Amino acid sequence: MSAAQKELDHFMKGLKKRNPHEKEFHQAVEEVVTSVMPWYLDQQKYHKAQILERITEPDRIVIFRVSWQTDTGEIRANRAWRVQFNHSLGPYKGGLRFHPSVTQSVLKFLGFEQIFKNSLTGLPMGGAKGGSNFNPKGKSDDEVMRFCQSMMIELHRHIGEDVDVPAGDIGVGSREISYLFGQYMRLENRWSGVLTGKGLSFGGSAVRTEATGYGCVYFCENMLHQHDEGLEGKSIAISGSGNVAIYAAEKALEKSAKVLTLSDSSGFVYIKDGVTSEQLESVKEIKLNQRGRISELAEKFQGVEYHEGARPWGVKCDVAMPCATQNELEEKDAKTLIQNGVIAVCEGANMPTTAAAAELYRENQILHAPGKASNAGGVTVSGLEQSQNSMRISWSREEVDERLQKVMKEIHRRCVEKGKQNGRVNYIDGANIAGFQKVAEAMLAYGVF
Ligand code: NDP
Repeated sequence: MSAAQKELDHFMKGLKKRNPHEKEFHQAVEEVVTSVMPWYLDQQKYHKAQILERITEPDRIVIFRVSWQTDTGEIRANRAWRVQFNHSLGPYKGGLRFHPSVTQSVLKFLGFEQIFKNSLTGLPMGGAKGGSNFNPKGKSDDEVMRFCQSMMIELHRHIGEDVDVPAGDIGVGSREISYLFGQYMRLENRWSGVLTGKGLSFGGSAVRTEATGYGCVYFCENMLHQHDEGLEGKSIAISGSGNVAIYAAEKALEKSAKVLTLSDSSGFVYIKDGVTSEQLESVKEIKLNQRGRISELAEKFQGVEYHEGARPWGVKCDVAMPCATQNELEEKDAKTLIQNGVIAVCEGANMPTTAAAAELYRENQILHAPGKASNAGGVTVSGLEQSQNSMRISWSREEVDERLQKVMKEIHRRCVEKGKQNGRVNYIDGANIAGFQKVAEAMLAYGVF
């Protein structure tokens, strides 16, 4: 057993003991520590300063109750969290997730990933994540508003434009951000850029809605070009039909790729000839405006097949783009994708690939872009929204998109620089090492804290 493997096992044993039952958090830490350990062991100054032990311990976690009333007057109580993980590089930054599967473990994994993602963007942002086990599905607008207002009564004490700037994530879109922002203003009696993803008429940035999906496709294009390939004519299987999936599909279409699938938690749609712009507009209406089901697309258009209760990974494609949720692409799915000739997997979601599936990609030399690099477009434009708010200006759509493309290109360059191995690029190692190094440097400079 190598020295790095021995250290990794020892470190993970301690981490699991300190954080029992948090399997998503263990998984996210193990992926990062596996990449950085050989380098870390060579750098005694980091080892001596116990950077790994400190960076895996959140600065703080705020846990609170959110009480609210349904339209029929019944009282409900949910649990909410804000995990402020590390602010070495700037104010805490990371989304809020509303979903019944939200636990402290899920938010710790997301907050931990966010530290390195934000570091990769080159913008001054620390890592955080938050949310609640509240389920917005089936709730009226008024119920969602009451929940958001109640949540902000506690959250407002812990955030601020120079302290912590939350954004959206699963279940938190422009409706929720607007309710949260309105309540923050009411409580603080001042306007500040304390949330990102705001409406365009009240401080939001152009391209923020599209940024994660567009950024994912920009990253994918950079990755394919690096390996003498391109996006034009490539078939893509996308999972999800939320914010990230829809705008990834939109940009892929613009790049003349063929999007074969979209999905939600009930099943997936398969469009043999590739989704059209008209169909994509319909998905926006069904999923983003009416909050309906992806199956409705098959009812509206001929040539769209709906597969109930299944994921899209059995469809033959050149590129897989998981854009729904964590661990949605397992070992058996990876095997099928590889058998079907996939050349690249580009993650729009956070940690959508299980460790066993990632190992299969590595063994089979499949290009694999980890979410912390390929989905960093969202937080990049959030960072740009903060800059615009501070300067009290708004940049045009073209200007923001150009900046987004530059940042995605630069993240790709950093991954290549740190992840080159025998003529190929290990994007997981590249992203982890490049993201980690910068935060470790800052922590070392601050001394013991
Ligand atoms: P949305 O809520 O807009 O959409 C989520 C999509 O994923 C929906 O289609 C949803 O289906 C599906 N989904 C959610 N949970 C599950 C599940 N357990 N099983 C199967 N399908 C599921 O979220 P986003 O598009 O914003 O986020 C998607 C992913 O991208 C997440 O991993 C998020 O952390 C990540 N991300 C998002 C960013 C952003 O800017 N929004 C930034 C960076 C990463 P259904 O409608 O049935 O619930």
